[in-house]
Amino acid sequence: MSTNVILLGPPGAGKGTQAKTLAERTSLSHVASGDLFRAALREGTELGMLAKSYMDRGELVPNEVVINMILERIQAPDCAAGVIFDGFPRTREQAVALANSMARHDNKIDAVLYLSVPNEVLLRRIAGRQTCKTCGATYNIYYFPSHRPGICDACGGKLYQRSDDSMETAQHRLDVYFAQTMPLIEYYQLQGILHEVDGQREITWVTEAMLKALGRYLTTSAHPKE
Ligand code: ADP
Ligand code: ADP
Ligand code: ZN
Repeated sequence: MSTNVILLGPPGAGKGTQAKTLAERTSLSHVASGDLFRAALREGTELGMLAKSYMDRGELVPNEVVINMILERIQAPDCAAGVIFDGFPRTREQAVALANSMARHDNKIDAVLYLSVPNEVLLRRIAGRQTCKTCGATYNIYYFPSHRPGICDACGGKLYQRSDDSMETAQHRLDVYFAQTMPLIEYYQLQGILHEVDGQREITWVTEAMLKALGRYLTTSAHPKE
């Protein structure tokens, strides 16, 4: 049995930031649909090109495409102890496909951590986000700047702004979130596995709150990395 956790929340809520730290502090693997699409695009694959046409407009990539990619990814050996899902599922159809696949492998989603953040904060977070080209670390020009402008603290790589992080596209992504992803809050609440975490607090506070919420799952099957 593995431990499987979903980080749910709007664009800019802090899913990627938290998932990275949680993966470092547990034996779970970080699986981010957006990161997988951006990696595919860098490699110039057909999947990458297809995803880009949706991402640039702030639309969701078709369910079938995302579902196939994620279900294949989680079969890899590094996911055996469990997964932290970041950015997936984003629709009810994706959530149902994930649940069915988990059940076929005698597995399940143990917990869904919902990061709530007010809208005005989200727009600033998205517009100020800077991402490292080399290691994927995330900074924010308003809230969490790198020590040297444009340079990653962790690896010295170059920071860039994602093309879909412009104000206009960000606003549309939020609308898409409200229409298509927000219903998943109730979906998981009804299953009794939703934990709400105040995503407006400091990054380290949020991490501790998440680890606390996951406590009982982590002690049984997922041991912290040395
Ligand atoms: P998501 O993956 O949910 O879109 P990110 O983790 O990329 O969100 O965070 C969005 C932006 O907000 C990044 O620039 C990140 O550095 C910043 N950020 C994340 N968490 C916090 C926080 N708790 N307080 C302030 N800024 C944050
Ligand atoms: P954010 O961190 O701001 O939430 P992501 O990196 O998760 O953004 O996603 C960027 C874009 O990739 C989305 O706007 C969408 O076009 C596409 N995408 C990522 N995950 C999914 C998904 N589960 N379903 C459909 N499209 C997705
Ligand atoms: Zn870096």
